[in-house]
Amino acid sequence: MITPAKTLCPYCGVGCGLDVLPPAQPNRPTNRDQAGNPLWQTRGDRNHPSSKGMVCVKGATVAEALDQDRLKYPLLRRSLADPFERVSWDTALASIVDQIQAVRRTQGPEAICMYGSGQFQTEDYYTAQKLVKGCLGTNNFDANSRLCMSSAVAGYLHSFGADGPPCCYDDLEATDCAFLIGTNAAECHPIVFNRLKKHHKRNGQVKLIVVDPRRTETAKQADIHLGIRPGTDITLMNGIAHLLLSWGAIDPEFIDGCTRGFADYTTVLRHYPPSIVAERCGITVASLEAVAQAWAEAKAALSLWSMGLNQSSEGTAKVRALINLHLMTGHLGRPGAGPFSLTGQPNAMGGREAGGLSHILPGYRLVQNPQHRQALETFWQLPPGSIAAAPGLTISDMVLALEQGQVGLLWIAATNPAVSLPDLNRAKAALRRSPFTIYQDAYYPTETAAYAHLLLPSAQWGEKTGTMTNSERTVTLCTAFRPPPGEARPDWEIFAEVGRRLGFVEQFAFDSAAEVYAEFTQITAGRPCDVTGISHDRLADLGPIQWPCPAQETADTAATKHDKRLYTNGIFATDDGRARFAALHERGLAEPPDDRYPFVLTTGRLYGHWHTQTRTGRIPKIQKMHPAPFLEINPRDAQQLRIQSGEWVEVRSQRGTVRLPVLVTQNMRRGTLFVPMHWGSLWADGAECNALTHPEACPVSRQPELKACAVQVIPLDQSTPTSASASEGTPTALPEPNPSSMLSAAPTP
Ligand code: SF4
Repeated sequence: MITPAKTLCPYCGVGCGLDVLPPAQPNRPTNRDQAGNPLWQTRGDRNHPSSKGMVCVKGATVAEALDQDRLKYPLLRRSLADPFERVSWDTALASIVDQIQAVRRTQGPEAICMYGSGQFQTEDYYTAQKLVKGCLGTNNFDANSRLCMSSAVAGYLHSFGADGPPCCYDDLEATDCAFLIGTNAAECHPIVFNRLKKHHKRNGQVKLIVVDPRRTETAKQADIHLGIRPGTDITLMNGIAHLLLSWGAIDPEFIDGCTRGFADYTTVLRHYPPSIVAERCGITVASLEAVAQAWAEAKAALSLWSMGLNQSSEGTAKVRALINLHLMTGHLGRPGAGPFSLTGQPNAMGGREAGGLSHILPGYRLVQNPQHRQALETFWQLPPGSIAAAPGLTISDMVLALEQGQVGLLWIAATNPAVSLPDLNRAKAALRRSPFTIYQDAYYPTETAAYAHLLLPSAQWGEKTGTMTNSERTVTLCTAFRPPPGEARPDWEIFAEVGRRLGFVEQFAFDSAAEVYAEFTQITAGRPCDVTGISHDRLADLGPIQWPCPAQETADTAATKHDKRLYTNGIFATDDGRARFAALHERGLAEPPDDRYPFVLTTGRLYGHWHTQTRTGRIPKIQKMHPAPFLEINPRDAQQLRIQSGEWVEVRSQRGTVRLPVLVTQNMRRGTLFVPMHWGSLWADGAECNALTHPEACPVSRQPELKACAVQVIPLDQSTPTSASASEGTPTALPEPNPSSMLSAAPTP
């Protein structure tokens, strides 16, 4: 009997446990890829507390991409016009060190930028922070989590005094009112939604409310679906609060004892009577009242959200407007109740713990706090003042700095910004201006590889041991079960080796990921995310552990409890222990529709694909499931434009153009369009939705408004093929990957 390796699904923030079985097993049929090679197999880990054996199609098929198009050796070229040449690790690392030293000398440390990823394990994140923020003295480390959940981070921080989702997944089965806003959990967080759906089906009194301009798969399951106008979330939530206040359906004891700012909040709420709210949101007064009634009658209200709130030019305000509802009703810190952000990526939470954004430091510390900087400098044995006092560049700032020639070295790892950044044509032009770009990834080609001077092959999921933290703060040990291909190395090892070569030998004297994690946990002592009671050994012995888990929590039963909630005593992480209401009005979309661009385009994910398809595009089953991009449009809008499903249109914004086949559907409200975000230039011609999106961001979280921009739609002459993809016809046609010049110019990686 073969013992499966225990690990975590490397896709979304639900964090489902996986058992991994080797390709060939006695008495079992062997799964093979299209070329006949045997495949590793995954199945749900029944003992994982977060997922209890469940997985979605992504987790079930993830092993099929392990050997597809892997980058195996370092590749270097002098300029983007040159072909890559294979080099040794020694040459690659020496070129990085030379470049870093030259940039520090000539431009200063602030000309060095690193852009990382929620795909990192916590050990990768921590080592990168020590290298960039500690040793190099620049806070210019940002991660793709900036595009994903930085508004949730800012919302928690400003309302509660600290980041960290206060809920746990057991709340999914303890709530009697689930309020989902800006999240298509059925497709994007399927196992969380499965748990909630089962609870809803079994318990007739449980209300499921979904707020989304689109009638998503999640909305189809709801008792009440509010298909609000894009950008009116704050108006809606203030409108619900207005009704709760007028009905007296609030918790005065909680408000008086545990919060501040309620009086100012009620002043704002006066401006949100039902008639005005219903009119602005494009819903009926009756449906608004029904939702407020559900909140009023709830014994335990649980709200779930993800990118629909976060990816907004007022993302932090939206998150805080939602938290306000919990504070005024006291639905927080007890079973089934609380505001619960669903993280997009598998280890976005670990990134937050390890300080993986440009304004934070490990252990839920802030760059701008002198005591926090000093604690890290002492711990890292670096001279006082080593950590810069100002927040570093966000990824949007990095794009601007590239445009202005202020970046000397850009290091990108485990993410694909040449597809995922807003205002993509401008972002690509900026990437082309980088004098030296290191791109560290497991796969080749990707769209971003075309902008790199140095490619570093990294070990991925299953090839390195490390930890990841999921949305409910559960840390899982992800065990390596096979060696990396070729010369690929774990990300943390690459960062540590560069650190040692720069002279920081003691700081990076790590022999294993377990040692890195052991050091990281020490710096969390006494912090909100205290994980001093967690180690690789303990995770291997006990299985996943939820934080907070301080060192004194030594009893195994306490360490392995999985229903830990934050703020159960009503004391928050602010100076005075009280949570803060936010008295906020809505500002609306940064780019509202107008006569020239009359539609609001919203973007999102599909069930099977993950982000920019770096893995899922290489898995045949998922390619068959979602073969091509498309544009969803309401039937009346389609009728006005005289277009039908399968016909092609050009979609234009002020920044770019895409060409897509149309899918006419009642799921879209009038005036709103939807495009999936998964297709970069590698997988389809002219279908990059971010060519259309704008870079306006939330002023607090700096998260861009990827969810809404103004566009026009031009029907194309249906007899004229519009592009390579266009000539393939309807959305059901299977597109060939289009690596174009990247593949033809590339050596075997
Ligand atoms: Fe993986 Fe998320 Fe699917 Fe779970 S729900 S199997 S973590 S993609």
